Amino acid sequence: MNIERGTSLSKLTTIGTGGPASALARPRSLDELAEALRYAAAEGLEIVVVGLGSNLLVADEGVEALVIHLEGELAAVEVGPTGLVAGGGAKNAVCLHRARDAGLGGFEFACAIPGTVGGGVKMNAGAYGRDWSDIVARALVATADGVDWVALDDLALSYRRSAVGQGAVVARVELLLDPRPSEEIKATVSELVVRRKATQPTNKRTFGSVFKNSPGELGAGRMLELCGLKGHRIGGAVISPKHANFIENADYATSADCVALMVEARRRAHEELGITLEREVAFVGALELPSFT
Ligand SMILES: Cc1cc2nc3c(=O)[nH]c(=O)nc-3n(C[C@H](O)[C@H](O)[C@H](O)COP(=O)(O)OP(=O)(O)OC[C@H]3O[C@@H](n4cnc5c(N)ncnc54)[C@H](O)[C@@H]3O)c2cc1C
Repeated sequence: MNIERGTSLSKLTTIGTGGPASALARPRSLDELAEALRYAAAEGLEIVVVGLGSNLLVADEGVEALVIHLEGELAAVEVGPTGLVAGGGAKNAVCLHRARDAGLGGFEFACAIPGTVGGGVKMNAGAYGRDWSDIVARALVATADGVDWVALDDLALSYRRSAVGQGAVVARVELLLDPRPSEEIKATVSELVVRRKATQPTNKRTFGSVFKNSPGELGAGRMLELCGLKGHRIGGAVISPKHANFIENADYATSADCVALMVEARRRAHEELGITLEREVAFVGALELPSFT
């Protein structure tokens, strides 16, 4: 399998920032994935999985790791007896189309989540009151030690969290869906997309939610809006004027610009509202937010 050197990860993230990967593999089968994991172990390289890069911020200096991007049969989608069987690298949009064509409902909530099925498991992605824990039956997880099916309970999916650890790759996922007429699915999706476009910067380069929402509190976006941060700009990055929990790449932003905005947003929420916001976006490479003492 080909190992690419120095591929810029800005091409593999929706925000479009970030530096090169010291090594990058695009396995197309379980055998190739095992080969990639063996290679990383032999070279002492950390594993970083990049799906659609829609909740990722990569350091501008890049990352010393083997970046794995699933393709081929590891990104394919099949209709199974009780739903879909999707490769970890399968795009949510492709799954949704296949489910709709097969008259299978339950995945509609993911219509505005621009990621992959494997990324959805790792993040327990969700919207409109539903998340991956409502539809996953089990996931095939590969590590340097081998490949195993992991049942839903053992994936421990909770709000934007899972038990999928560092170095583990979600290679395939069984999704449980219910029969639903295609026309109804189409109508629900249209309605959800309209709602999403009205409230979020869907036509800009972003990485989705910057911070997590805490149950029982105002959403992170509303809090940052109260701090007057909508439209706040550092370098080429700007806090979305449409939704304050999004950072837009407005003009050749760097990841450092995005982190600087996150630091400022957390500082203001802490000082003005007494809230410590927790990051949702995954960091890759040498990036960190200072902690409050
Ligand atoms: C416009 C926009 C709207 C969004 N709306 C939502 C929303 O409503 N709800 C929501 O939950 N999220 C939302 N997101 C964030 C994002 O789309 C989700 O978190 C998505 O599930 C990430 O999937 P991905 O494939 O892009 O993962 P990536 O961003 O590539 O990676 C995210 C994390 O998952 C890991 N990962 C990715 N693939 C795998 C795999 N196969 N195996 C193991 N680990 C893996 C990565 O290493 C990283 O830690 C939005 C993002 C954007 C840009």
